[in-house]
Amino acid sequence: MSTQSWLRGHPSAATITFDIDAETPVLAEGRRFATHAMTMSHQAFGPDVGVPRLLDMLDQVGVAATFFVPGWVAEVRPSLAPSIVERGHEVAHHSYSHRSATELTPAEEREDFERAFEVFQSQGIELSGHRAAMWEATTNTPRLIREFGLTYDSSLMGDDKPYRLVAEGQRPLAELPVHWSLDDWEQYAFLPAPVIGSAIESPAKVLEMWKLELDAMREFGGLFNLTSHPFLTGRPSRTVALRSLIEYGLERGNRFATCREIAADALEDTTLRELPEERLIVDTSAYPFPD
Ligand SMILES: [Zn+2]
Repeated sequence: MSTQSWLRGHPSAATITFDIDAETPVLAEGRRFATHAMTMSHQAFGPDVGVPRLLDMLDQVGVAATFFVPGWVAEVRPSLAPSIVERGHEVAHHSYSHRSATELTPAEEREDFERAFEVFQSQGIELSGHRAAMWEATTNTPRLIREFGLTYDSSLMGDDKPYRLVAEGQRPLAELPVHWSLDDWEQYAFLPAPVIGSAIESPAKVLEMWKLELDAMREFGGLFNLTSHPFLTGRPSRTVALRSLIEYGLERGNRFATCREIAADALEDTTLRELPEERLIVDTSAYPFPD
């Protein structure tokens, strides 16, 4: 095995990912928002208008992306996930309800995870990876990822290149780390009810910021793991800015691949770090308060 095989001879790698959250993060705030017509339409724009537009953009640049889809969204729109796979992209697990796992009991987290898994199974979608809703995985999440036969997670922040999550006697999982600086939510999310953000940044500024990170990732050999949301980046000037960013990376020799492909290579690459996934044992004399 050659060193740094996950880069396959490129100076760095990029994964273009889309979380098709649609109505779920709003309904997770309270199902009363189901009757809020403006809010529902704002969220439905993602799968209904943003996704087809972004799929066309990806065709233009010839890059395969990874779409993390909550099971609820795939169930309500049964042609959505198959249509993405048909276009040559990856669909991955993004919880069922998009409620944060950190707010659920372990039993509730498992039930939600399994419910999404069953939706994708019924649609013939082959899953390899998982991203926690709001990235809020728990120390229980890797066990579920293994139990359901998946190979990677993309929710944590322990490095800026892939690493392996290891636990005694268990097969390792690939972690493709994320960060808020590479998330369109912080740049573009604006919604008054419920308040999910109050940012409408210029795509020119966002493009400049992400180009800087792409350049620096080449210097450090990192993974540029971009998280976008079709209800946000599916708006016209934002889609065009993302296309410019991908073209910029392609011109400079970045590897572009799906999360599934990067994870498979990361599991084989012995130069990458291994991090234990067990929870910290915290000294109660130092930290007496549980909450
Ligand atoms: Zn999400």
